[in-house]
Amino acid sequence: MAPSRKFFVGGNWKMNGRKKCLGELICTLNAAKLPADTEVVCAPPTAYIDFARQKLDPKIAVAAQNCYKVTNGAFTGEIRSVNRTGDGLIGQKVNHALSEGLGVIACIGEKLDEREAGITEKVVFEQTKAIADNVKDWCKVVLAYEPVWAIGTGKTATPQQAQEVHEKLRGWLKCNVSEGVAQCTRIIYGGSVTGATCKELASQPDVDGFLVGGASLKPEFVDIINAKQ
Ligand code: PGA
Repeated sequence: MAPSRKFFVGGNWKMNGRKKCLGELICTLNAAKLPADTEVVCAPPTAYIDFARQKLDPKIAVAAQNCYKVTNGAFTGEIRSVNRTGDGLIGQKVNHALSEGLGVIACIGEKLDEREAGITEKVVFEQTKAIADNVKDWCKVVLAYEPVWAIGTGKTATPQQAQEVHEKLRGWLKCNVSEGVAQCTRIIYGGSVTGATCKELASQPDVDGFLVGGASLKPEFVDIINAKQ
């Protein structure tokens, strides 16, 4: 039987927007016709998580963009600084978020020089292993393939490039976790997705949704949410 993976679209607002324009964006999303068979999550700037949760229609979930590996402590600026997060720390963060009962969108992806050196597969497999080592319940995890060279650059991976990596990642999950986890886990694509590129990307068999940055701040985010319709 064909696997049924609910299409998943996340909007990563990063550190953009004040209350006024985010409020307008939220009104657009609340008024839009969103498909029932698509899970939608928005990640506002940290200071506006509560604001977004209060204003957004309850059918749209709210996410934090980052977390740390523990709940309390003297970690000044942890949510603000530009962190160099190695695979090990990512694994610890995933572990902590899951142990607190949260769901996780775990991002992986190669840099341009790594793609050009032909080591994309090696890089994303290592990153996936660091995450997988910390996951017991895969229902709570969405894997986001975000090639670093495509993030915020306007350079979207081609549907073929995305499909190739997603298929390999699903193969990795099958070999290293289980067939069931490989079939059920959503692998979403992120990196300069727009209303114009989303439909063809969404038609790829192993692309189960998107993590959208820039375009999630615009009304075209609604088109991306509807990419499968
Ligand atoms: P982008 O961001 O769509 O602006 O490239 C993607 C992301 O970082 O999630």
